[in-house]
Amino acid sequence: MFITDISLIKYKGKMSVEGLMWEDRLASPLDIYPQYADAIDTVPDFIQSKNDILDLDQIYLYIHTDHGVSGLSGPISNSVAYIIAKQLKPILIGKDAFATELIWDQMYRRLIHGRQGEPIWAMSFIDCALWDYEAKKNNKRVWELANLKNKPKPLISAESFGIRPLDKLSKDILKFKNAPLMKLKATRDKVLDIVNTAHKTSPKTKFIVDFNEGLFPSDVEELSKKLIDLNVILLEQPLHANQDEILSSFDHSIDIGADESCHTSDDIIRLKEKYDCIIIKPGKCGGLTESLKLKKTAEENGLKIMVVCMFGSSLAVAPAFVIAQSGVDYVNIEVPKAMAKDRENSIVCKNHLVYPPKPELWG
Ligand SMILES: [Mg+2]
Repeated sequence: MFITDISLIKYKGKMSVEGLMWEDRLASPLDIYPQYADAIDTVPDFIQSKNDILDLDQIYLYIHTDHGVSGLSGPISNSVAYIIAKQLKPILIGKDAFATELIWDQMYRRLIHGRQGEPIWAMSFIDCALWDYEAKKNNKRVWELANLKNKPKPLISAESFGIRPLDKLSKDILKFKNAPLMKLKATRDKVLDIVNTAHKTSPKTKFIVDFNEGLFPSDVEELSKKLIDLNVILLEQPLHANQDEILSSFDHSIDIGADESCHTSDDIIRLKEKYDCIIIKPGKCGGLTESLKLKKTAEENGLKIMVVCMFGSSLAVAPAFVIAQSGVDYVNIEVPKAMAKDRENSIVCKNHLVYPPKPELWG
């Protein structure tokens, strides 16, 4: 079972979608500057549909072996595909395709100049394709290979709301009124307005507020005291990762979660006295292999866990589902509506529930 080739194939086509592909934006550390914080109508630089038709131009990765079966992952951007082709492919050819942990470690060591962002996403696509290969080759599901005790079943996922005008936020939240869990992106200056609006519209919902590093250190304690009465149960990455130390200096009235501060299991020892929860995303962690290791290490250290895959196509959400299925505290892995029919056998999301991936999709 040796890897004989890695192919990166670009497919071009058109997909019909309703409305914009993504109509609001994330919070950003840049939001401490008013000219960026006020730009709530700025749609991110993603491809957008014209007249409800989306022109797609996407790359998929296939790992081929001397046994004829291939593993699949994607979709992949041009810049990430370049890292796979130039930096990772040369060390993969000839390797045992079942040696996922060894391959992960060698890829990680190879990427000495970039272990976050695009280089680690590149690793993630290879790792997820290897899991898919192993499942197909053994005629088993990935959760069986990973020895997960929990059988797959539909999971409750948080509904996500990016930065958007308050009247639109209220209207959009109303469609999911009193859903059990919602995740709100928030900027420093508007957080109380955003959460007040959400809480008023959906009073029985619990909220996770994601700041994407957008607060100042002096904000966190005071803000927590106000947000606790608005059903906020988790503050996600309030500070820049370099300011983590401050979080061990006060009692947390609301749990604090590490997203941009947490990438691999090696981070846990640094984070365990500062955070209450860690956020796992297969892309950010370099794939399923490290995500499972990170989860185990976090559990051993008494940390809560949230699994996230916010922009994913069904193929990206499938590995995140496997981690969520293994038993975590919070799940935020819904497939965006515009991506719901991006391929056959896509993941089903209905009534706050995300259904297990079919074997024809992945794993
Ligand atoms: Mg986040």
